[in-house]
Amino acid sequence: MTIIMVPFYCEVCKKETPHEVLKKTTGKNTTVFLGKCTVCGISSKHTVSLKEEKTGIDIKLIYSKGASTSTAIVNFDKYDKLKVGDILPYQGMHIKITKLENLLHQPRKRMPVTNISTIWGTINDTVTVKISVNMKDYTKSISLEVPPSETFVVGDVIKVNKQNLLITGIVTKHKSLREGTAIASEIVRVHSKKVRNREG
Ligand SMILES: [Zn+2]
Repeated sequence: MTIIMVPFYCEVCKKETPHEVLKKTTGKNTTVFLGKCTVCGISSKHTVSLKEEKTGIDIKLIYSKGASTSTAIVNFDKYDKLKVGDILPYQGMHIKITKLENLLHQPRKRMPVTNISTIWGTINDTVTVKISVNMKDYTKSISLEVPPSETFVVGDVIKVNKQNLLITGIVTKHKSLREGTAIASEIVRVHSKKVRNREG
């Protein structure tokens, strides 16, 4: 089970510190958290208005491209979860998460956003799309390096290694498509079959 931590102002420490959420009571307009300060260990109640909760969570993002590093603040839905290796769309760029730090600045592989203090990443220019090719007697798997925004369409014929492949289905992170379009950064696997000529 994941321990949810939220930053709250601690009256003992006299500053905002990570609090372990011991109890959460959601009312009509407010949510009351019983939080335990991870620095001094004192438990206290914190009332957050739902409006405030709905605005999501701002997290610091530090990303690099080559030798330069930039810092940004990214807003997440408070129920979001992130893991190392995820691709984060940010201002038209695709940032691959290389490291996540929790509120105590320890690295973790995956966390709910409420536990994250800093996201580290690099600008990702290509993603790997896995393609299953139905070869009649067997299925082979090939990988394709493409820009994250590259579009794949069910029913299209694509040319890979001088072979014409008809896209028969696409599995994305959220759903399985039998028709329609998906962008490379969202794709888990493309299903295809080898064809001789272009088919509609
Ligand atoms: Zn404290």
